[in-house]
Amino acid sequence: MAERVLVVGGAGYIGSHCVRALVSAGKDVVVFDDLSTGHAAAVEVPLIRGDVRDHGALRTALALSRPDAVMHFAAKALVGESVAHPVRYFDTNVGGTAALALTMLEAGVRRLVFSSTCAVYGQPERCPLDERQDKRPLSPYGQSKRMAEEVLEGARAQEGLQVAILRYFNAAGAMPDGSLGESHQPETHLIPLAIDAALGRRPPLRLFGEDYPTPDGTCVRDYVHVLDLASAHIACLQRLMDGDAGDAWNVGTGRGSSNREVLSAVERATGAAVPVIPEGRRAGDPAELWADPQRLCAELGWRPAFADLNDIVSTAARWARSPRF
Ligand code: UDP
Repeated sequence: MAERVLVVGGAGYIGSHCVRALVSAGKDVVVFDDLSTGHAAAVEVPLIRGDVRDHGALRTALALSRPDAVMHFAAKALVGESVAHPVRYFDTNVGGTAALALTMLEAGVRRLVFSSTCAVYGQPERCPLDERQDKRPLSPYGQSKRMAEEVLEGARAQEGLQVAILRYFNAAGAMPDGSLGESHQPETHLIPLAIDAALGRRPPLRLFGEDYPTPDGTCVRDYVHVLDLASAHIACLQRLMDGDAGDAWNVGTGRGSSNREVLSAVERATGAAVPVIPEGRRAGDPAELWADPQRLCAELGWRPAFADLNDIVSTAARWARSPRF
């Protein structure tokens, strides 16, 4: 029988792509989402509307879907907003995760794949960044994700919850057929903003900092295709189904791309120049942040299907030309 998976936050950018990948892998999928930032139009499986902090709504969703495993993407994820409203971030990201873990344990659902972030490390000691580096998050967003990890690590150590934690680097790209993609309100990420600037749909791209100690002076990040994130989730699901207690893995390609390199890739994908306004550095941006995905590759057999930045950006550009929501 097909495994049943409840995807909490499955109407959001990364969650909805994971749902597509799970359905393609033959899983029976139900989404739970409050649609505060996600899109109903992104969901083609049964959708239960509810808030991740609402124990009653979670109990109902678990009873209706009777999942073998849960994937948890429901979170607030804007660093700047987290600095202005830290309590909201702890409430949703920590409180929501605790509510989910508690109701799962009550319902006897014991497998969870959790969406975390490289922001839990804060300023990296060195790149590539591996899982052993200190976790000293710099923003309430990063702190809230690290605290949520700690809630789940406690549940794993003491209460028998099997938990796989994936720490994403920069999620990017879209379904290659253009049927699903990124639509944030507000949009703050480099690739969609640069594509829209090239297409003349947004103002020129404000480039934050060209005086970093990097080869071209702009920040370096590790862009990982959203479907490669999805395949990492499916590999984790399999591992938990096989009885593993779980662990934490970085998910990035292991390749850094500078902001200038991203802008060149956007120009190749759109055939248009990206208008740029040079700005000062954005507070809290480390110069370089790229992953060592060696453990994910060795232990979960993961390989990125989209290893080339141009392939990632071209899928994002295809979506951006005709977004469905
Ligand atoms: N960036 C930029 N202009 C923008 C948005 C982002 O120059 O309008 C830069 C940002 O300073 C960072 C990189 O692009 O160096 C990636 O930022 P993004 O917000 O996409 O992801 P983050 O790495 O912050 O998670």
